[in-house]
Amino acid sequence: MKGFPPVRITHVETFRVPLPGPRPPFVWRRGLLGSAPDGEAAVLRIGTDDGLAGVALATRPGMAAAVADLVDRVLRDELVGADPLQREYLWHRIWEIDRTEELPLPALGLVDIALWDLAGRLVGQPVWRLIGGFRTRIPAYASTVTFKDTAEYLDVAMQCLELGYRAIKLHAWGDARADAELAHRLREHVGDDVPLMYDGSAGFDLPDAIYLGRALHEAGFLWYEEPMREFSVSAYRGLAQAVEIPLLVAETSDGAHMNSADFIAAGAATFGVRASASMRGGMTGALRTAHLAEAFRVRAEVLGDEMPSRHLSMAIPNTTFHESMVTANPVVKKPEIDGDGFVHAPLDPGIALPAGLDYPSTLHPYVEGSI
Ligand SMILES: [Mg+2]
Repeated sequence: MKGFPPVRITHVETFRVPLPGPRPPFVWRRGLLGSAPDGEAAVLRIGTDDGLAGVALATRPGMAAAVADLVDRVLRDELVGADPLQREYLWHRIWEIDRTEELPLPALGLVDIALWDLAGRLVGQPVWRLIGGFRTRIPAYASTVTFKDTAEYLDVAMQCLELGYRAIKLHAWGDARADAELAHRLREHVGDDVPLMYDGSAGFDLPDAIYLGRALHEAGFLWYEEPMREFSVSAYRGLAQAVEIPLLVAETSDGAHMNSADFIAAGAATFGVRASASMRGGMTGALRTAHLAEAFRVRAEVLGDEMPSRHLSMAIPNTTFHESMVTANPVVKKPEIDGDGFVHAPLDPGIALPAGLDYPSTLHPYVEGSI
């Protein structure tokens, strides 16, 4: 290519790294598995012939072995020799691979995340600046796990507000009556000015989702997130027609922006859709989702507090908050949240991994000389 010396992928490697479970462990709503015990994560590293590398982290249980297997069977052959800046083509290739492999959702975006990380390192810029920054800080909301009883939720909520959090999202018990009562009690406790949200983690059928949605509207909640599994767009359309509270949907459904589009077209995404690198096919899929939502004048709320999400939060105009998990009581102050409840733009080149991961810092020599 004129003016641009070609860069080629020479290394595609996985490193299995220890991933301690949260201390203390925590639970989600009834029926769901709680936090994972000590386990392993996978670092996917894609290296080039000029010595640069990009990395992505897979933390879901079981993903370390799955990613290593996928790299060895499929991805290394696919990627070695390719131009790492041809992200759109390689994103397309991942969907072709998915057609026969039926990849786990968090695996769909790993290559894309590593390639964005590499691109950022190539130009010495954090990825949110490479995409095009919209802001350099954003308010965080405290996203609770499931606590024992109403008193504990109210206690945790007050600790969160004292630490600076601007808003609170409940993951509660998954009991429509009890969760509705909790929503009212929390609203009374924090007053009218604190934005409150509710995440159902797909625990309800349509009748219970309607009951709870009406209660959340009465309690002045800002959004109602994923009350049902996201397999039926029709069920969500029915919910949207039955409740006034705006719905935030399409978090865990397969198909990235192509699937989010159907939720929006059905009138089900009345608050918006979820945007994430982990569930929407990497940074590229998350950005497509955000732009789709913007065209329909709805939000694309960035999911989770992993590093890719921090970059997306700075580059997606139509997101409102940064999600910050609160998993313990007493609530522990997180270093990335300032006293006013804001999280700030990352400054390191690329996307970067969380601190403390132990993996080799030099490119493995196994393919040297093969290009
Ligand atoms: Mg959620």
